[in-house]
Amino acid sequence: MSSNKSHAAAALAQALIRCRSVTPEEGGALTWLASQLEPAGFACHRLTMRDHDTPDVENLYARLGTGAPHLCFAGHTDVVPVGDEAAWTRPPFGGEIVGGVLYGRGAVDMKGGIACFLAAALDYLGTGGGLKRGSLSFLITGDEESVAINGTPKLLAWLKARGETLDACLVGEPASAEAVGDQIKIGRRGTVNARLVVHGKQGHSAYAERAENPVPKLARMIDRLSTTPLDQGSQHFQPSSLQATILSVPNSATNVIPGSARANFNIRYNDLHTRPGIEAWVRERCEEAAREVDARFALSFEGSGTVFLTEPGPLVDTMRAAIQDATGRGPALTTNGGTSDARFIKDFCPVVEVGLRNATAHQVDENVPLADLATLTEIYRRFIERYFAG
Ligand SMILES: [Zn+2]
Repeated sequence: MSSNKSHAAAALAQALIRCRSVTPEEGGALTWLASQLEPAGFACHRLTMRDHDTPDVENLYARLGTGAPHLCFAGHTDVVPVGDEAAWTRPPFGGEIVGGVLYGRGAVDMKGGIACFLAAALDYLGTGGGLKRGSLSFLITGDEESVAINGTPKLLAWLKARGETLDACLVGEPASAEAVGDQIKIGRRGTVNARLVVHGKQGHSAYAERAENPVPKLARMIDRLSTTPLDQGSQHFQPSSLQATILSVPNSATNVIPGSARANFNIRYNDLHTRPGIEAWVRERCEEAAREVDARFALSFEGSGTVFLTEPGPLVDTMRAAIQDATGRGPALTTNGGTSDARFIKDFCPVVEVGLRNATAHQVDENVPLADLATLTEIYRRFIERYFAG
């Protein structure tokens, strides 16, 4: 790794962090990115996407070349809010470097990752004499951290309508754990939210025989759902998980038995399940517990994010080799963690996720060591080289 390349990635990341692109604000981030890509020959498309009841969102699609194979780098320039700004020891949009560490919102999620791929691509195109075959593109959204409606799904539909196809996609989310490149994410669990309402009969707690208390009934149902394993995991996935996340009883009096009680659950499910299968499983557990305590309940589901897996194959092998070259270590293939826009891209082409360590993502004092930026840039650089060497 030449120090030039690592300096380049750090400077690019600094410039991006200084754009205040708190979701869904563009904040100058996409304009800046296009200004880096256009001189290198990329055709840049600024795409504002709209939908009912959601803010307009700006996105960027930049492509170099017209032929196959088409390698796409996907990411987002929007960042989550800074939270309590007074709690930060460095300004969240300052991009300060202190002691070899770059601070700022988006340092790891995921302006740092975008900067690394940009540095790697520009280096490849510059020192390698340009793209010898195929196409290289950036698919960058301003709506990943929010509802993800006016971002990647609409960009992909726009590409499809133009007749453009992708052959492989790298998502630069912070997918590493202890060291940069220790994991390639080859899939993600599905996610769904369940809302359970148990109905009772309101009344005076001193005359409980005239009321019907929904609270212990709900507690029994939560216990049943929380203690019944969904599965034991599969070859590439950890066991599915159901977590009670909200418990609420609309009541402000200590001597009133409430008329209803509700709970919300978030379920992360692996490739042994489908969305309809998960809904049926939750409903059956609720019905079992409800029979035991004679509970009347209503159950509804919301949220999207289906489970997917990119089966190990050429794309995974190419990335594995690039990581081995750059770090001297072999990565693990994993599917843990939360969802990302890879869940939309997997319908178009094989997709893998490799990025920075996620330790400080969304936190106060989000930061990235410059050494991590250097390592990731080197991984990406070798990946691009190997991909187009084909
Ligand atoms: Zn992210």
